[in-house]
Amino acid sequence: MNCWHCDRPAHGACVFCGRGVCKQHAKSMPSLVQVYRDKAGAMKAIVTENALHCGVCRPREDPVDLPELDGTRLTLFLARGDEGAEKKA
Ligand SMILES: [Zn+2]
Ligand SMILES: [Zn+2]
Repeated sequence: MNCWHCDRPAHGACVFCGRGVCKQHAKSMPSLVQVYRDKAGAMKAIVTENALHCGVCRPREDPVDLPELDGTRLTLFLARGDEGAEKKA
């Protein structure tokens, strides 16, 4: 994979869109890495401050949609697990 800007070998890929970028053209941008629930059931987000950004794409600043989807999946998964445990017991 080559750099999107100068067509030389890329040092990494943009975490948002996957474009390759070399060190010279790499930008950084805070990125949401993972969303999870803590033991109290509260939603927590892991954010990295200097994620690799290609400088071309424009990630949405408000990532509300994805955490909501993950929360729904997590809730469904936990509900299934509880049902299974009740049947076994
Ligand atoms: Zn470059
Ligand atoms: Zn990008």
